[in-house]
Amino acid sequence: MLPSRGRGLELRGPLAVAIDPAQVAAWCARQGWPVLPLQPGDKFPRPGCVRCRRGADQYVPHAASECACITQGRWCHSFYAATLDPQRIARWWSERPVPGVGVATGAARLLVIDVDCHTTTGPADPALVLPAFDAAPEDAANVRSGLDTWDLLARVSGAPVPATEVETLTVATPSGGRHLWFRVPRGTRWASSAGGNHAGRSLGWQLDVRAEDAYIVAPGTRTAAGLYEAVGPCRRPTMLPGWLAGALERTGHLLRPPGSKGSPRQRTAPVPNLARQIAFPGAASAWARSVTATALSSVADCVQVAEGSGWSSRLNRAAFTLGGLVASGLVSSDGEAQRALLEAAVHARPQREHEAQRIIQSGLIAGQRRPLNPTKDR
Ligand SMILES: [Zn+2]
Ligand SMILES: [Zn+2]
Repeated sequence: MLPSRGRGLELRGPLAVAIDPAQVAAWCARQGWPVLPLQPGDKFPRPGCVRCRRGADQYVPHAASECACITQGRWCHSFYAATLDPQRIARWWSERPVPGVGVATGAARLLVIDVDCHTTTGPADPALVLPAFDAAPEDAANVRSGLDTWDLLARVSGAPVPATEVETLTVATPSGGRHLWFRVPRGTRWASSAGGNHAGRSLGWQLDVRAEDAYIVAPGTRTAAGLYEAVGPCRRPTMLPGWLAGALERTGHLLRPPGSKGSPRQRTAPVPNLARQIAFPGAASAWARSVTATALSSVADCVQVAEGSGWSSRLNRAAFTLGGLVASGLVSSDGEAQRALLEAAVHARPQREHEAQRIIQSGLIAGQRRPLNPTKDR
């Protein structure tokens, strides 16, 4: 199924090479995709202005919704500041050095599959390739990169193989990965699952999802690492294919309004991969893993509910619990616990990372004074 190339063809040249970021930003905005400035030469958003910081670099924790900067036309708070406003775009991208271009995926009604190719050896455990699907063990054992996972996902989902750049806008990344861009059906919202800020859901090994509360580097952007280059014939994202929508729903990426029929809490799998990065030595490892997964999910699940609904107290409780597991030796590393907690926390509240770090620190320290005991605390 080849989507109409339409006006996209004229951009085949420009988007396949690095071009003036101002043109890239304007082109994205014409597609209806809100844009945000990235740090010049980098793939990360520009940091907030001095009003959002105290002194040179100390961020003052505050919600994007409470920040005057965005309404005043500044780019603070990453994708929260993304805009379609031509004047704002012209102003942001006339600054020197010129910022790169990011697209706020959720606001743009886009979903991008970020296919990583970080290793050539495959995952340590083939069962981690597509945990939510019935892939043959021998197929999973042959997976060496995210591209292999993608092909296998298409196969187990009954998709016409291969699902590649002839079907949708595809961007080759400087690290050798691929960004596969899709439009999402009206009336649906999809959760992100990329590493870092969005761990908590997993489509498959080395497959990250960028949708709500996320951004993606625009094609034609050059960073110090290299070019984000559109490849293949398509210059427009096609509609999310049914097989992929099904796979995303199965892995908990379909967001439903709270209280709706089949709310995410009942329908989605428990948050699978937050606890996975933690080692659980000892005889009570299954118990410790389940306690940890529950604690982390309680924090990450705040993504479904409004501000002021207990994110900080859940995070504090989860940190206290993991501190107790560290103290009794059931979680081997303080650092692993801290990382998983931070991922769960910023998954739900990406704008409150600094506050999260403080809560995690104090919760872990408090919890370590009370070692958890699998026979008494079960
Ligand atoms: Zn600011
Ligand atoms: Zn601010």
